[in-house]
Amino acid sequence: MKLIIASNNAHKLIEIKQILGEEFDEILSMREAGIEHETVEDGSTFLENAEKKAREMAEISGCCALADDSGICVDALNGAPGIYSARFSGVHGDDAANNRLLLEKLEGVEDRGAHYTCAMVLARPDGSTVEAEGYLCGEIGFEERGHNGFGYDPLFILPSRGCTTAELSAEEKNAISHRANALHALLKKLQEEK
Ligand code: IMP
Repeated sequence: MKLIIASNNAHKLIEIKQILGEEFDEILSMREAGIEHETVEDGSTFLENAEKKAREMAEISGCCALADDSGICVDALNGAPGIYSARFSGVHGDDAANNRLLLEKLEGVEDRGAHYTCAMVLARPDGSTVEAEGYLCGEIGFEERGHNGFGYDPLFILPSRGCTTAELSAEEKNAISHRANALHALLKKLQEEK
């Protein structure tokens, strides 16, 4: 069976192939499958957005499709920015502005608890879906540290390791990330279905 990933992000593709590679004959990005499509992400939860992306891709491709939606949820901000993580500051994908705004909003705030969430949904051409979520818990720092990763990583501290996720290597982060946790949870569900 072929699996189309509703993304062209090379890093995500590598992570997905590493974890789900045994379950599918072939795993292709949208580009590799010759598909150009953008889903309007208008859901109110990570799962709703991931499900919409996966269902549309399964319908367009006629194959199984996998989509994810992820972001950071900050306790003191009642879970914000959540599904709006990529455009917290108003400009989609402006990591520096998003991090500046997060630090501003947490000025003088003692509760720094936060978690990354990732929703993964596999949709099949017959309309069935398999859903899973993964998390990574941490704290928001007071200044940026580290140059690896992306997005909120320079501010996301792992208290057990005493560093931010931007100070981990890609391998170290992939071993514990919310995406990896969601993929492992999804793999478990697929194996239980057999
Ligand atoms: P996406 O759904 O994976 O595209 O993630 C949406 C947004 O959430 C990104 O643009 C980042 O701002 C944030 N985000 C998700 N995962 C991570 C991560 O692993 N590190 C840092 N930021 C992340």
